[in-house]
Amino acid sequence: MIPKQMIAHLPTPVEWMPRLSAALGGPKLLVKRDDQTGLAMGGNKTRKLEYILADAQAQGAKTLVTIGAVQSNHCRQTAALAARFGLDCILILYGDKPETMTGNLLLDALFGAEIHWTTREQRDETFNRVFNHAWQEGRRPYAIPLGASNALGAVAYAEAFSEMINQGVNPDWIIFASSSAGTQAGMVLGARRTNFRGKILGISVDLPRDELAMKVADLATAGAERYGEKYVFNPQDILVNDHYIGAGYAVLGENETRAIQFFAKYEGLLVDPVYTGRAAGAMIDLIEKQFFKPDETVLFWHTGGTPALFAQKYMDSFQEIVKPKL
Ligand SMILES: *Cc1c(COP(=O)(O)O)cnc(C)c1O
Repeated sequence: MIPKQMIAHLPTPVEWMPRLSAALGGPKLLVKRDDQTGLAMGGNKTRKLEYILADAQAQGAKTLVTIGAVQSNHCRQTAALAARFGLDCILILYGDKPETMTGNLLLDALFGAEIHWTTREQRDETFNRVFNHAWQEGRRPYAIPLGASNALGAVAYAEAFSEMINQGVNPDWIIFASSSAGTQAGMVLGARRTNFRGKILGISVDLPRDELAMKVADLATAGAERYGEKYVFNPQDILVNDHYIGAGYAVLGENETRAIQFFAKYEGLLVDPVYTGRAAGAMIDLIEKQFFKPDETVLFWHTGGTPALFAQKYMDSFQEIVKPKL
């Protein structure tokens, strides 16, 4: 057994989406509700942080140090985790520093995180500098990588995969947003460990297909080592679709806007502008292109992210759409 701190609300429910399925004339649709994992509004990082926190505690950490984009869900959840366990939290955020604190960023501040700003280009350098400084000051920092995607993050999603199988859920396809590769790595590892026969399709949020597939394969292999198992994963066997990156990371386009509206209107469900909206939009588009067979079951693995809906830039974009309702 690989140690973890029990934090998440598990198992997360699996629900049908009959109205969305009917509206699209598509296959049977399921949703795995990892937006309901708990820890400051939930999301996929809760599961990963359960294992990472156990490791940090074993090493005597007093400060969690991590990195992400301005509206990082991972940073928000790490900040909440630190608050809950009486640790300090240092966040290195890259991107344009906004004028007002909204969405995830507002929550980071409420959880008492110490924030350092940098650019995407200088993020590693800044991280190392801030981390070393914290070390010299005797704050016992513990580094958590981007998206909590390391071997332990992959283990967390291998376990999540077993959880789904134990729920008696056996879809033909699993679709979700893939970015720093830990979630997808864990799923492919979990699939191997459970002899799953369906397909695991990551929708890339930012990286080109080959680059993401390579990272997924490497992390899945590293995750297997944690179990003391010798599986080797090849990038050619990893399914990644990079056709939905649009204008780039965190840029809200028509694909995401439509997905957010469809999920809201037909199922009363919220998907986010950066990750799950992009992956849900891809799923909707693939259904419309008849990519799936009518008798197949497609599971949308909801990875969270909904606080970003309330980031100023996304709220502004949505005003045009909701205005007629005023
Ligand atoms: C981090 C994140 C992802 C991507 O998970 P990775 O393990 O980084 O690939 C997907 N959705 C949401 C909401 C996230 O916060």
